[in-house]
Amino acid sequence: MITVEPRLVMVCRSVSDVVEGLRQGAASGERVVPRGGGHCFAGRSSTDGIVLDLSGLDEISVRDGVVTVGAGVLLGTLYAELHRHRRAVPGGCGPGVGIAGLTLGGGIGLLGRKYGLTCDRLVGVQVVLADGRVVECSESSEPELFWALRGAGGGQFGVVTSLRFASVPEPVMTRIEARWAGIDLAELVSAWQEWAPDAPDEVTVNLSVGAGGARLFGASMLGVAATRELLSAFGSSVELRGGLAYAELKSSFADPLERPALRMRSEFFTSSLRAGTVASLVGELSAGRELSFTAMGGTYNRVAAEATAFAHRSSRFLLEYVSDVGDPWIDAAWATGHVDGSGGVYPNFPDPALQDWASAYHGDNYARLQAVKRAYDPHRFFAFPQGI
Ligand SMILES: Cc1cc2nc3c(=O)[nH]c(=O)nc-3n(C[C@H](O)[C@H](O)[C@H](O)COP(=O)(O)OP(=O)(O)OC[C@H]3O[C@@H](n4cnc5c(N)ncnc54)[C@H](O)[C@@H]3O)c2cc1C
Repeated sequence: MITVEPRLVMVCRSVSDVVEGLRQGAASGERVVPRGGGHCFAGRSSTDGIVLDLSGLDEISVRDGVVTVGAGVLLGTLYAELHRHRRAVPGGCGPGVGIAGLTLGGGIGLLGRKYGLTCDRLVGVQVVLADGRVVECSESSEPELFWALRGAGGGQFGVVTSLRFASVPEPVMTRIEARWAGIDLAELVSAWQEWAPDAPDEVTVNLSVGAGGARLFGASMLGVAATRELLSAFGSSVELRGGLAYAELKSSFADPLERPALRMRSEFFTSSLRAGTVASLVGELSAGRELSFTAMGGTYNRVAAEATAFAHRSSRFLLEYVSDVGDPWIDAAWATGHVDGSGGVYPNFPDPALQDWASAYHGDNYARLQAVKRAYDPHRFFAFPQGI
């Protein structure tokens, strides 16, 4: 994707800049794509046409617990600013990820089992439509568009210029981390998948395994003693650090994905991997290959699958298969895991190799999303492979 050269990059500092960018694209017939944090795995925030770089839409304000965020704000900046107000919005880990891209596809993070997806905290969105109209959407205004913007993925219906979230008081967190070498990986994966998705909502524990060993990492809203007791099955080598503000916790995690030239495929699981599948997956691990498990369950799943566009509300966990770009293991491992998988794929982890992408990303919500697309972008001004 880094070889794609836009003809024009417009750095937008206002809503009217966005309107002007869309007008220029319509006049020239070029593709126009919005860019927030630029972290899209499928490179959809680049084009050889016009890129609307939204980094100038960078305002953040907090009033009565409602946080209004410009669409160009990155997660690291947002968490640091909210910390000043002692507030938090549940969200992802990468500090360079854009709040708009994250939210439009869902938003999974260390507070999600307690407070839901980032998009579940949305109360309003301002959007510029393909025809240049600026609309405010919420439960009571343009409700179908508001529904679709919560979890279908970015770049589909219009250019979001700002988002409003119902924030929560910033929690005090306990940081969780353990590393093991020479451990029985199959036994560890089996133990994790039976425990982590059913842990108390306040506790999120994720797991990465590779040929060199395993890493357990996450966070708890409980104190150190209560967290240690909950994690007793994982042994005494689990390191806990209590008393961290959520923003401090976030910045304490180096993102395991921030590594050049990797490829990733993923799937949601509504039940545990069978023992034979676990054995096959860990048996094929070698240097550079990683299986990364994210715990779901909790509040994520207490929202009905049709309540927002995010269709994966019965998932126990998300599994990522990560390796170097050319490693054929990724497709082979994905196929091995898929036998036990739900078929659901996170829209924020777009996967160009998917055959049945519409049901994988959107499940039973796809027909309703098509109707929203016809209503708000009837000429498919915003279009990309696997787009609605
Ligand atoms: C290192 C890394 C860490 C990650 N960590 C997490 C995590 O912890 N949790 C999680 O849930 N996800 C995570 N993700 C996935 C992330 O949520 C998606 O990649 C997300 O789409 C990135 O948004 P962005 O704004 O940074 O990307 P961009 O590439 O700028 O945008 C992504 C898509 O949204 C569109 N878009 C961007 N801004 C707008 C807008 N204002 N209006 C309309 N469409 C828009 C773009 O055109 C593109 O199609 C991670 C990704 C990476 C690379």
